[in-house]
Amino acid sequence: MAAILEADALLKSSTSVFDDATMKKVLPADVYGRFTDNLVTGEPTSEPDQKTIAYEMFKWARSLGAVSFSHWFFPMRGGSGATGGQLGALKMDAFVDLVWSSDSPLKPFEEAFPYERLFGGETDGSSFPNGGLRVTHQAAAFTTWDRSSPCFVMDGVLRIPCCFVSHYGKCLDDKTPVLRAQDAVNQWGKKMLSLLSFKSEPKFAKAMSFQTYLGWEQEFFVISAEHYRARPDLINCGRTLIGKKPTKNQQGDLNYFGPVPGSVARLMENIQAVMFSVGCPCNVMHNEVAPAQHEMSPIFCTASASSDYNVLFMEIGAAEAKKLGLHILYHEKPFAGINGSGKHANWSAGTDTGLNCFHPGKTDGEHELFITSIGCLAHGLLAYNELVRCSIAHAGNDHRLGAQEAPPAIISLYPGVGFEKHVDTVIAGGPLLGYDPAKRTADPGNRAAMPVPTGVEDRNRTAPFPFCGNRFEFRAVGSSQNCSFPISIVNTIFAAGIAELCKLCEGGAPLRDAVATLYKNSRSVIFTGNGYSAEWPIEAAKRGLPCLSTTPLALQTFASEKNKAVFSAMGVYSPEEVEARAEVMFENYVTTLSVEIETFVEMMNTGILPACVKDLAKYTPDMADFVGDRKKLYVSIKTETDKLAGMMAAMPHGGLEAEAFHLCDVVKPQMVKCRAIVDEVEGLLEKGFYPYPTYETMLYSHHS
Ligand code: ADP
Ligand code: MG
Repeated sequence: MAAILEADALLKSSTSVFDDATMKKVLPADVYGRFTDNLVTGEPTSEPDQKTIAYEMFKWARSLGAVSFSHWFFPMRGGSGATGGQLGALKMDAFVDLVWSSDSPLKPFEEAFPYERLFGGETDGSSFPNGGLRVTHQAAAFTTWDRSSPCFVMDGVLRIPCCFVSHYGKCLDDKTPVLRAQDAVNQWGKKMLSLLSFKSEPKFAKAMSFQTYLGWEQEFFVISAEHYRARPDLINCGRTLIGKKPTKNQQGDLNYFGPVPGSVARLMENIQAVMFSVGCPCNVMHNEVAPAQHEMSPIFCTASASSDYNVLFMEIGAAEAKKLGLHILYHEKPFAGINGSGKHANWSAGTDTGLNCFHPGKTDGEHELFITSIGCLAHGLLAYNELVRCSIAHAGNDHRLGAQEAPPAIISLYPGVGFEKHVDTVIAGGPLLGYDPAKRTADPGNRAAMPVPTGVEDRNRTAPFPFCGNRFEFRAVGSSQNCSFPISIVNTIFAAGIAELCKLCEGGAPLRDAVATLYKNSRSVIFTGNGYSAEWPIEAAKRGLPCLSTTPLALQTFASEKNKAVFSAMGVYSPEEVEARAEVMFENYVTTLSVEIETFVEMMNTGILPACVKDLAKYTPDMADFVGDRKKLYVSIKTETDKLAGMMAAMPHGGLEAEAFHLCDVVKPQMVKCRAIVDEVEGLLEKGFYPYPTYETMLYSHHS
């Protein structure tokens, strides 16, 4: 760690990224100026500028040893899956081109980076999830550089973060929607500024653009690669399908923030060093609650670039772990019975002049922006509550949401207890200003340690969307997800909330009244109590908040007319793209569960049942006193597994949605029932007969 944080290492690291500082250095000032202006206005980069940028980027990349370039894009794959984490897609092209001007019939080739190749690429899109947006015989798909996410050189390849669209410009990826939703916040955010009382103050008047920001907190498990390879369930599903909880698990909360075991500390330092080198400062790392569970997070940056860095983190983590004989599990619930992994997505929005919508601020103007913005967010969260739920819905997350280790499947807003009181004052007719954001202090009460300033509001870790002083933290995102999708939804609903504010004001309401109306209408989504309590689901139902406890229930709501309308109005998805996305999510769910069930049945037939037979064979008739329930239990594994296979065979043919419900409501509970018997049997089999590494072995033995 110390070595990495040395100043020179930091300076050196920035040279692998074609970031703002590098561009400023290598590009002519006028080209640089136009490029950054274009990013604000959305104007295309002119052809001459494209040539200059590509040429300078090429020279720069070659100086770092790059031999090829790659359009790097993010097909919509949903959460979890076999690898347990999202990976981007890459296609490598060497930096060579034919010398077309040569008269030789066999044209020579030369080192080159044709400028068109930086800005656009064409590829075969046929094997990516597309939800019916393209058909097999119309396979072309296109990649185009997201100019707001920096290119970088890694392993000799210049990576170019890209959007990925069909022949007709329909999005086939997770990046395009987050960029469109970012534009919606930009467009509506600027309108919001024009409604504020302090709009003539410099930070308001000079604002040219809005950005949204993301800082993710990636949780993950680390185990030995050898154990990973010995578990078909981890290889195929990214999570264990069977396994008995070890006697010592997380009862004493010993692991949380405990010293990181040496082997894992080395891994995290190596990941940190590579992440630095590609421009992402992962400054936080620590142990998490469960044994073998850890977390790393970077300093936040713009939402689309930060999402890319998160996908990169998952890739780099996997590669670095392999070098050390370790393996990282990004799945939401790799081990039953101990906490799983999430990915808190810290999100905020603000202007190029430094205004932050979610910081109470120091001036009355900033304060008014804060109160107004949260009103818009509350409106969006209530009006499109199901959408936010859908943005985190996938098979892996179903194991966590509502299980007292992650927020419930009910989407509510926690702006703080003090803020909630202020909301009621505003609704009752009080002024917008008046919320007291003053920090308090926590005094340890001794002479040696000084009182420490506290946040404006206490934390609420049971809330899916709590306020964190200068941002909201979407806590229900799954550890395996690409953040782009949840952030595109959050951006959409926030922009829709601002649009509602604009409508009220255009209808003649003064700002105060319009904001009061937003709060009044969305009061039911604000909840500052304990989200883990048994009372909350009952209370939420009374308030009319949806409780979509499983992925199929959530996904069923995604392509509703209301949702299509808001996506169209905000320019994020066309109705056709909404349908496609819903289909991909259903497909992902069905595939994930089908692979799990098949893997489970195979593990029973080839591993667990043979072990049972071997174990039972030892109990000859003269050992009747020792055999206990073994025979009954062992046989029941066979009976219940056969039942499970039968349920799979009885899959309905009514399409993906019907299959998803069948898997969720019929097949999955049977797998859970079967698993419970297997885990009981694990405690009875003779030591050494269990055919897979146990939880105890996997969770503890790689620590050195
Ligand atoms: P916690 O204490 O909740 O575990 P961490 O320090 O692990 O928090 O992570 C907090 C994350 O929030 C970091 O990635 C940090 O850069 C990010 N963050 C801080 N301020 C903002 C902001 N205004 N917008 C978005 N993300 C932010
Ligand atoms: Mg954290």
